[in-house]
Amino acid sequence: MLLKKEHQEFREKIRAFALEHVAPQAAALDVEQRFPKEYLPLLAKEGLLGMVVSEEFGGSKIDTVSYSIAVEELSRVCGSTGITVAAHNSLGCFPIYKFGTDEQRKKYLPRGTSGGELLAFGLTEPDAGSDAGATKTTAVKKDTHWEMNGTKCFITSATHAFASIATARTSDAQGVKAISSFILEKEWDGYEVGKKENKMGLRGSDTAFFHFTDLKVPFENLMGELNDGFRQFMVTLDGGRISIGAMALGLGQGALDCAVKYAAESSVNGKPKSASQAIQFKLADMATEMEAARYMVYGASQMKDAGVKFSKESAMAKLYASEVGRRVAYDAIQVLGDVGFFSNQFPAERIFRDVKLCEIGEGTSEIQRIVIAREVLKSVMPV
Ligand SMILES: Cc1cc2nc3c(=O)[nH]c(=O)nc-3n(C[C@H](O)[C@H](O)[C@H](O)COP(=O)(O)OP(=O)(O)OC[C@H]3O[C@@H](n4cnc5c(N)ncnc54)[C@H](O)[C@@H]3O)c2cc1C
Repeated sequence: MLLKKEHQEFREKIRAFALEHVAPQAAALDVEQRFPKEYLPLLAKEGLLGMVVSEEFGGSKIDTVSYSIAVEELSRVCGSTGITVAAHNSLGCFPIYKFGTDEQRKKYLPRGTSGGELLAFGLTEPDAGSDAGATKTTAVKKDTHWEMNGTKCFITSATHAFASIATARTSDAQGVKAISSFILEKEWDGYEVGKKENKMGLRGSDTAFFHFTDLKVPFENLMGELNDGFRQFMVTLDGGRISIGAMALGLGQGALDCAVKYAAESSVNGKPKSASQAIQFKLADMATEMEAARYMVYGASQMKDAGVKFSKESAMAKLYASEVGRRVAYDAIQVLGDVGFFSNQFPAERIFRDVKLCEIGEGTSEIQRIVIAREVLKSVMPV
């Protein structure tokens, strides 16, 4: 796909960074389930932790196409780094930047952008995943503070984030109008992080529970308007879905690159495997689907940058790119055959496990279809 020169140059820059600093450790992070804390200052220096935040708050604010390219290139070599960066930018920094007060922005964003520390986003609960409006965590208004109680699960970077945004019910009313968002600090009494989860993929990323017990939250840490939390996280997820689509692009491309290289460099009966039409057709289908997914992710990114409504397009981009990423990773293993099944030579097996998250996180594929169908049905045309 033809990109503007500035985007091509940006891709080259991030690719070089990813190959030098991220790729060499990707396999080890997965095997050891080790979070790459040492990358954080490097990522911050490269501007990759403040991509949705202006310079005033330590960010490197770039357009959404560039942001997608950055997540894609990091994920191409390491899904764990890709999700860490995507979640921090889209789910940690973005809501504070968009909905926070100036004081909140000044207090929390610079540490998370140029400071090389992470922010997390606590929405999912044991009984509120796809149905995030069913949040059970409560924040009760006391004389001097809010008192928060509840559990959030499967939170990216929970252990390493110095602060998080979490949703809670702020009134007895049922439904989504009683949900508000708060900025919470890890050091506060009553803020407990559970043990790191043992996951099938993205094993270098940090995923854990939050348990809030009588957590005292200062009034000034309410984010945005009272009872506006549901709307805020819907807006946040619209953007976040583009970054999950970009992650799927990177993972899929990593698998495709691996399959192409293997087919060209290995041989059967004295001929390269890529001489076989069966392999060629598979590679052609993989490349074609990847290209279509790329148009969708960049297209949704452009719409976001243009300031037009992009909920449907971001849901479509995430849905399609994540399903393509999974198919391409699966086919890459088929092209590699036995060596693809093992994890010690090629990254295809790791990518196959990593890419599955893209069909689950920030709304499963079924939820994307609900979002898309709702939008499609709004515009019934005369036939
Ligand atoms: C690695 C990882 C990182 C994550 N990071 C974060 C994070 O940083 N912050 C955070 O808040 N959450 C995070 N999550 C949680 C993630 O957002 C949820 O897993 C996701 O929203 C789905 O919720 P659930 O797992 O409870 O699935 P469920 O809602 O229990 O869904 C189970 C199945 O039922 C289907 N289903 C549910 N409702 C419907 C419906 N109405 N119609 C049709 N089908 C339906 C789903 O599509 C799915 O197939 C993370 C998850 C993972 C795996």
